[in-house]
Amino acid sequence: MNTILTNKIEQFIREMPKVELHLHLEGAIPLETLLNFIKREGKEPSIKTIEDLRKKLTYSNFEHFIEVWTWKNTFIKYERDFKELVYQVLRTLSQQNVKYAEITYSPGDYWRIGLSARKITEYLIEGKEKAYRDFNIRSELIVDLVREHGPEIGMHRLDELTSYRGKGLIGITIGGSEQSFPPDPYIHVYKEAKDRGFRLTAHAGEAAGAESIWTVINKLGVERVGHGIRANEDVELISFLKEKKIPLEMCVISNIKTGVCKCIEDHPIKQYFNQGLIVTVNSDDPTMFNTTITMEFLELVKRLNFTLDDIKKLTLNGIDSSFMLNSEKESMKSQFEEEWQKLLSKYH
Ligand SMILES: [Zn+2]
Repeated sequence: MNTILTNKIEQFIREMPKVELHLHLEGAIPLETLLNFIKREGKEPSIKTIEDLRKKLTYSNFEHFIEVWTWKNTFIKYERDFKELVYQVLRTLSQQNVKYAEITYSPGDYWRIGLSARKITEYLIEGKEKAYRDFNIRSELIVDLVREHGPEIGMHRLDELTSYRGKGLIGITIGGSEQSFPPDPYIHVYKEAKDRGFRLTAHAGEAAGAESIWTVINKLGVERVGHGIRANEDVELISFLKEKKIPLEMCVISNIKTGVCKCIEDHPIKQYFNQGLIVTVNSDDPTMFNTTITMEFLELVKRLNFTLDDIKKLTLNGIDSSFMLNSEKESMKSQFEEEWQKLLSKYH
Protein backbone atom coordinates (compact mmCIF):
# COMPACT_ATOMS: atom_id res chain seq x y z
CA MET A 1 0.00 0.00 0.00
CA ASN A 2 2.55 2.53 1.05
CA THR A 3 4.99 1.73 -1.69
CA ILE A 4 3.34 4.15 -4.10
CA LEU A 5 5.93 6.76 -4.92
CA THR A 6 5.28 10.23 -3.59
CA ASN A 7 5.33 11.72 -7.08
CA LYS A 8 2.69 9.22 -8.22
CA ILE A 9 0.29 9.78 -5.37
CA GLU A 10 -1.31 12.78 -7.03
CA GLN A 11 -2.09 10.79 -10.16
CA PHE A 12 -3.34 7.91 -8.07
CA ILE A 13 -5.72 10.12 -6.10
CA ARG A 14 -6.92 11.85 -9.27
CA GLU A 15 -7.66 8.53 -10.96
CA MET A 16 -9.19 6.65 -8.05
CA PRO A 17 -12.99 6.27 -8.11
CA LYS A 18 -14.85 8.72 -5.88
CA VAL A 19 -18.22 10.05 -4.91
CA GLU A 20 -19.05 13.65 -3.92
CA LEU A 21 -21.94 14.34 -1.54
CA HIS A 22 -21.54 17.97 -0.51
CA LEU A 23 -21.07 20.20 -3.52
CA HIS A 24 -22.82 23.47 -4.27
CA LEU A 25 -23.54 23.83 -7.96
CA GLU A 26 -22.97 27.58 -8.05
CA GLY A 27 -19.73 27.29 -6.03
CA ALA A 28 -18.42 24.60 -8.36
CA ILE A 29 -18.88 26.53 -11.61
CA PRO A 30 -15.76 25.85 -13.71
CA LEU A 31 -13.75 29.04 -14.34
CA GLU A 32 -14.12 28.64 -18.12
CA THR A 33 -17.91 28.51 -17.80
CA LEU A 34 -17.97 31.55 -15.51
CA LEU A 35 -15.68 33.45 -17.88
CA ASN A 36 -18.02 32.68 -20.78
CA PHE A 37 -21.01 33.94 -18.79
CA ILE A 38 -19.10 37.11 -17.84
CA LYS A 39 -18.01 37.81 -21.43
CA ARG A 40 -21.56 37.30 -22.64
CA GLU A 41 -22.67 40.27 -20.53
CA GLY A 42 -19.73 42.42 -21.61
CA LYS A 43 -19.89 44.48 -18.44
CA GLU A 44 -16.66 43.46 -16.72
CA PRO A 45 -13.80 44.74 -18.88
CA SER A 46 -11.27 43.96 -16.12
CA ILE A 47 -12.00 40.21 -16.39
CA LYS A 48 -10.56 38.94 -19.67
CA THR A 49 -8.77 35.74 -18.75
CA ILE A 50 -8.96 32.80 -16.37
CA GLU A 51 -6.04 34.41 -14.55
CA ASP A 52 -8.02 37.64 -13.99
CA LEU A 53 -10.84 35.53 -12.64
CA ARG A 54 -8.58 33.57 -10.33
CA LYS A 55 -7.31 36.84 -8.86
CA LYS A 56 -10.87 38.04 -8.35
CA LEU A 57 -11.64 34.84 -6.42
CA THR A 58 -9.30 35.55 -3.51
CA TYR A 59 -10.78 36.96 -0.34
CA SER A 60 -9.58 39.14 2.49
CA ASN A 61 -12.29 37.96 4.89
CA PHE A 62 -15.64 36.20 5.08
CA GLU A 63 -17.67 39.32 4.16
CA HIS A 64 -15.49 39.75 1.10
CA PHE A 65 -16.10 36.10 0.20
CA ILE A 66 -19.90 36.64 0.36
CA GLU A 67 -19.52 39.75 -1.78
CA VAL A 68 -17.59 37.85 -4.47
CA TRP A 69 -20.07 34.94 -4.25
CA THR A 70 -22.96 37.31 -4.94
CA TRP A 71 -21.03 39.03 -7.75
CA LYS A 72 -20.39 35.68 -9.44
CA ASN A 73 -24.07 34.69 -9.24
CA THR A 74 -25.12 37.83 -11.12
CA PHE A 75 -23.70 36.26 -14.31
CA ILE A 76 -26.05 33.27 -14.05
CA LYS A 77 -28.94 35.04 -15.71
CA TYR A 78 -31.20 32.60 -17.46
CA GLU A 79 -32.87 29.35 -16.49
CA ARG A 80 -31.15 27.58 -19.39
CA ASP A 81 -27.75 28.53 -17.89
CA PHE A 82 -28.33 25.84 -15.29
CA LYS A 83 -28.21 23.12 -17.93
CA GLU A 84 -24.76 24.27 -19.06
CA LEU A 85 -23.67 24.81 -15.48
CA VAL A 86 -24.50 21.33 -14.19
CA TYR A 87 -23.15 19.73 -17.37
CA GLN A 88 -19.78 21.48 -16.99
CA VAL A 89 -19.59 20.78 -13.26
CA LEU A 90 -20.22 17.07 -13.89
CA ARG A 91 -17.65 17.08 -16.71
CA THR A 92 -15.04 18.44 -14.28
CA LEU A 93 -15.97 15.79 -11.72
CA SER A 94 -15.86 12.98 -14.25
CA GLN A 95 -12.32 14.05 -15.20
CA GLN A 96 -11.41 13.18 -11.60
CA ASN A 97 -13.20 9.85 -11.85
CA VAL A 98 -16.14 10.86 -9.68
CA LYS A 99 -18.74 8.17 -10.42
CA TYR A 100 -21.64 9.66 -8.51
CA ALA A 101 -22.41 13.14 -7.17
CA GLU A 102 -25.19 14.66 -5.10
CA ILE A 103 -25.33 18.30 -6.14
CA THR A 104 -26.91 21.03 -4.04
CA TYR A 105 -28.53 24.00 -5.76
CA SER A 106 -30.23 27.10 -4.38
CA PRO A 107 -32.98 28.17 -6.81
CA GLY A 108 -34.37 30.68 -4.27
CA ASP A 109 -31.31 32.87 -4.84
CA TYR A 110 -32.60 33.57 -8.37
CA TRP A 111 -36.20 34.33 -7.51
CA ARG A 112 -35.47 38.07 -7.37
CA ILE A 113 -34.36 38.12 -10.99
CA GLY A 114 -37.47 36.25 -11.99
CA LEU A 115 -36.09 32.73 -12.55
CA SER A 116 -38.50 29.90 -11.84
CA ALA A 117 -37.35 27.16 -9.46
CA ARG A 118 -39.27 24.64 -11.53
CA LYS A 119 -37.63 25.65 -14.81
CA ILE A 120 -34.19 25.75 -13.17
CA THR A 121 -34.81 22.20 -11.93
CA GLU A 122 -35.95 21.03 -15.37
CA TYR A 123 -32.82 22.43 -17.01
CA LEU A 124 -30.67 20.84 -14.33
CA ILE A 125 -32.26 17.46 -14.96
CA GLU A 126 -31.64 17.84 -18.70
CA GLY A 127 -28.03 18.85 -18.09
CA LYS A 128 -27.27 16.03 -15.71
CA GLU A 129 -28.84 13.46 -18.02
CA LYS A 130 -26.69 14.77 -20.87
CA ALA A 131 -23.61 14.49 -18.62
CA TYR A 132 -24.56 10.91 -17.82
CA ARG A 133 -24.77 10.06 -21.52
CA ASP A 134 -21.49 11.84 -22.37
CA PHE A 135 -19.33 11.09 -19.33
CA ASN A 136 -21.06 8.19 -17.61
CA ILE A 137 -21.31 10.07 -14.30
CA ARG A 138 -24.43 9.60 -12.21
CA SER A 139 -25.88 12.41 -10.15
CA GLU A 140 -28.84 13.49 -8.05
CA LEU A 141 -29.98 16.96 -7.00
CA ILE A 142 -30.46 18.29 -3.47
CA VAL A 143 -32.39 21.52 -3.13
CA ASP A 144 -31.13 24.07 -0.62
CA LEU A 145 -34.06 25.84 1.01
CA VAL A 146 -31.72 28.68 2.14
CA ARG A 147 -32.14 29.57 5.83
CA GLU A 148 -32.28 33.34 5.20
CA HIS A 149 -35.48 32.87 3.19
CA GLY A 150 -37.32 31.37 6.16
CA PRO A 151 -39.45 28.22 6.60
CA GLU A 152 -42.54 29.58 4.83
CA ILE A 153 -40.68 30.12 1.58
CA GLY A 154 -38.98 26.79 2.25
CA MET A 155 -42.37 25.08 2.37
CA HIS A 156 -43.47 26.90 -0.77
CA ARG A 157 -40.31 25.75 -2.58
CA LEU A 158 -40.94 22.18 -1.44
CA ASP A 159 -44.47 22.34 -2.87
CA GLU A 160 -43.14 23.74 -6.15
CA LEU A 161 -40.54 21.01 -6.53
CA THR A 162 -42.21 17.91 -5.10
CA SER A 163 -43.19 16.66 -8.56
CA TYR A 164 -39.47 16.36 -9.48
CA ARG A 165 -38.71 14.06 -6.56
CA GLY A 166 -37.49 10.76 -7.91
CA LYS A 167 -36.93 12.30 -11.34
CA GLY A 168 -33.53 13.77 -10.58
CA LEU A 169 -34.27 15.56 -7.33
CA ILE A 170 -33.53 13.40 -4.31
CA GLY A 171 -33.27 15.50 -1.16
CA ILE A 172 -33.31 18.76 0.73
CA THR A 173 -30.82 20.72 2.81
CA ILE A 174 -30.69 24.08 4.55
CA GLY A 175 -27.58 26.16 3.92
CA GLY A 176 -26.81 29.80 4.69
CA SER A 177 -26.11 31.59 7.96
CA GLU A 178 -26.37 28.85 10.54
CA GLN A 179 -25.61 31.11 13.52
CA SER A 180 -28.27 33.69 12.64
CA PHE A 181 -30.90 31.24 11.42
CA PRO A 182 -31.05 28.14 13.67
CA PRO A 183 -32.72 24.97 12.35
CA ASP A 184 -35.72 24.70 14.74
CA PRO A 185 -38.22 26.66 12.56
CA TYR A 186 -37.75 24.03 9.81
CA ILE A 187 -39.16 21.10 11.83
CA HIS A 188 -42.43 21.03 9.96
CA VAL A 189 -40.80 21.56 6.50
CA TYR A 190 -38.52 18.58 7.15
CA LYS A 191 -41.37 16.42 8.39
CA GLU A 192 -43.37 17.22 5.29
CA ALA A 193 -40.36 16.58 3.03
CA LYS A 194 -39.83 13.20 4.66
CA ASP A 195 -43.48 12.25 4.20
CA ARG A 196 -43.10 13.10 0.50
CA GLY A 197 -40.10 10.81 0.14
CA PHE A 198 -37.28 13.37 0.14
CA ARG A 199 -33.97 12.39 1.68
CA LEU A 200 -32.77 14.73 4.42
CA THR A 201 -29.54 16.51 5.19
CA ALA A 202 -28.75 19.96 6.68
CA HIS A 203 -25.73 22.18 7.19
CA ALA A 204 -24.91 22.11 10.90
CA GLY A 205 -21.94 22.46 13.23
CA GLU A 206 -19.99 24.74 10.92
CA ALA A 207 -20.71 28.36 11.88
CA ALA A 208 -22.67 27.18 14.94
CA GLY A 209 -21.71 24.55 17.51
CA ALA A 210 -22.78 21.09 18.71
CA GLU A 211 -26.27 22.26 19.68
CA SER A 212 -27.07 22.92 16.04
CA ILE A 213 -26.05 19.35 15.15
CA TRP A 214 -28.23 17.90 17.93
CA THR A 215 -31.19 19.91 16.60
CA VAL A 216 -30.89 18.80 12.97
CA ILE A 217 -30.61 15.18 14.09
CA ASN A 218 -33.23 15.09 16.82
CA LYS A 219 -35.75 17.58 15.48
CA LEU A 220 -35.28 17.67 11.70
CA GLY A 221 -34.46 13.96 11.45
CA VAL A 222 -31.55 14.35 9.04
CA GLU A 223 -29.81 11.25 7.73
CA ARG A 224 -26.46 13.05 7.34
CA VAL A 225 -24.90 16.20 8.70
CA GLY A 226 -23.44 18.82 6.35
CA HIS A 227 -19.99 19.68 7.79
CA GLY A 228 -20.36 18.77 11.47
CA ILE A 229 -16.80 19.94 12.12
CA ARG A 230 -17.74 21.34 15.53
CA ALA A 231 -19.18 18.04 16.83
CA ASN A 232 -16.19 17.67 19.16
CA GLU A 233 -17.52 20.50 21.32
CA ASP A 234 -19.68 17.80 22.95
CA VAL A 235 -18.25 14.37 23.76
CA GLU A 236 -21.73 12.90 24.07
CA LEU A 237 -22.49 13.99 20.53
CA ILE A 238 -19.36 12.24 19.25
CA SER A 239 -20.48 8.98 20.90
CA PHE A 240 -23.99 9.45 19.55
CA LEU A 241 -22.80 10.05 15.96
CA LYS A 242 -20.67 6.94 16.21
CA GLU A 243 -23.33 4.73 17.74
CA LYS A 244 -26.05 5.84 15.32
CA LYS A 245 -23.64 5.80 12.36
CA ILE A 246 -24.70 9.26 11.21
CA PRO A 247 -22.36 10.37 8.42
CA LEU A 248 -20.61 13.73 8.35
CA GLU A 249 -20.17 15.49 5.01
CA MET A 250 -16.77 16.98 5.78
CA CYS A 251 -15.25 19.76 3.65
CA VAL A 252 -11.76 20.40 5.00
CA ILE A 253 -10.41 23.11 2.69
CA SER A 254 -13.68 25.03 2.90
CA ASN A 255 -13.37 25.06 6.70
CA ILE A 256 -9.88 26.55 6.45
CA LYS A 257 -10.88 29.13 3.84
CA THR A 258 -13.91 30.32 5.82
CA GLY A 259 -11.90 30.43 9.03
CA VAL A 260 -13.92 27.79 10.94
CA CYS A 261 -10.60 26.02 11.40
CA LYS A 262 -7.21 27.78 11.57
CA CYS A 263 -5.13 25.29 9.63
CA ILE A 264 -5.43 21.80 8.26
CA GLU A 265 -3.34 20.36 11.10
CA ASP A 266 -6.01 21.60 13.54
CA HIS A 267 -8.87 20.01 11.59
CA PRO A 268 -10.63 17.18 13.50
CA ILE A 269 -11.24 14.95 10.44
CA LYS A 270 -8.46 12.50 11.37
CA GLN A 271 -9.59 12.40 14.98
CA TYR A 272 -13.19 11.68 13.91
CA PHE A 273 -12.03 9.02 11.46
CA ASN A 274 -9.93 7.34 14.16
CA GLN A 275 -12.83 7.51 16.60
CA GLY A 276 -14.89 5.47 14.15
CA LEU A 277 -17.25 8.18 12.92
CA ILE A 278 -18.62 7.87 9.39
CA VAL A 279 -16.57 10.59 7.73
CA THR A 280 -16.95 11.50 4.05
CA VAL A 281 -14.74 13.82 1.98
CA ASN A 282 -16.25 16.61 -0.11
CA SER A 283 -15.27 19.89 -1.74
CA ASP A 284 -18.23 22.21 -0.91
CA ASP A 285 -17.48 25.17 -3.26
CA PRO A 286 -14.37 24.06 -5.16
CA THR A 287 -14.13 27.03 -7.53
CA MET A 288 -14.63 29.57 -4.78
CA PHE A 289 -12.12 27.87 -2.47
CA ASN A 290 -9.61 26.98 -5.17
CA THR A 291 -9.87 23.29 -4.42
CA THR A 292 -11.02 20.07 -6.11
CA ILE A 293 -12.22 16.75 -4.74
CA THR A 294 -8.79 15.37 -5.75
CA MET A 295 -7.01 18.04 -3.70
CA GLU A 296 -9.22 17.34 -0.69
CA PHE A 297 -8.04 13.71 -0.59
CA LEU A 298 -4.46 14.63 -1.45
CA GLU A 299 -4.19 17.04 1.47
CA LEU A 300 -5.37 14.29 3.82
CA VAL A 301 -2.53 12.08 2.64
CA LYS A 302 0.13 14.77 2.59
CA ARG A 303 -0.74 16.79 5.65
CA LEU A 304 -2.73 14.50 7.94
CA ASN A 305 -1.03 11.18 7.24
CA PHE A 306 -4.06 9.31 5.98
CA THR A 307 -2.89 6.02 4.44
CA LEU A 308 -4.20 4.68 1.15
CA ASP A 309 -6.25 2.16 3.13
CA ASP A 310 -7.82 5.08 4.98
CA ILE A 311 -8.51 6.89 1.70
CA LYS A 312 -10.19 3.81 0.31
CA LYS A 313 -12.34 3.55 3.43
CA LEU A 314 -13.32 7.23 3.03
CA THR A 315 -14.43 6.69 -0.57
CA LEU A 316 -16.49 3.65 0.46
CA ASN A 317 -18.00 5.73 3.30
CA GLY A 318 -19.09 8.15 0.56
CA ILE A 319 -21.00 5.37 -1.20
CA ASP A 320 -22.57 4.09 2.03
CA SER A 321 -23.59 7.61 3.10
CA SER A 322 -25.12 8.50 -0.25
CA PHE A 323 -28.85 8.53 -0.99
CA MET A 324 -28.49 5.73 -3.54
CA LEU A 325 -30.52 2.53 -3.14
CA ASN A 326 -28.76 -0.29 -1.29
CA SER A 327 -28.53 -2.37 -4.45
CA GLU A 328 -26.88 0.56 -6.27
CA LYS A 329 -24.45 1.03 -3.39
CA GLU A 330 -23.42 -2.61 -3.50
CA SER A 331 -22.76 -2.59 -7.23
CA MET A 332 -20.83 0.68 -7.00
CA LYS A 333 -18.71 -0.74 -4.18
CA SER A 334 -17.68 -3.73 -6.25
CA GLN A 335 -16.89 -1.43 -9.17
CA PHE A 336 -14.70 0.70 -6.85
CA GLU A 337 -12.95 -2.41 -5.53
CA GLU A 338 -12.12 -3.57 -9.04
CA GLU A 339 -10.82 -0.15 -10.16
CA TRP A 340 -8.85 0.23 -6.96
CA GLN A 341 -7.00 -3.05 -7.54
CA LYS A 342 -6.20 -2.06 -11.13
CA LEU A 343 -4.83 1.28 -10.01
CA LEU A 344 -2.68 -0.31 -7.33
CA SER A 345 -1.05 -2.58 -9.87
CA LYS A 346 -0.64 0.33 -12.28
CA TYR A 347 1.19 2.48 -9.74
CA HIS A 348 3.26 -0.13 -7.92
ZN1 LIG B 1 -22.19 23.61 1.98
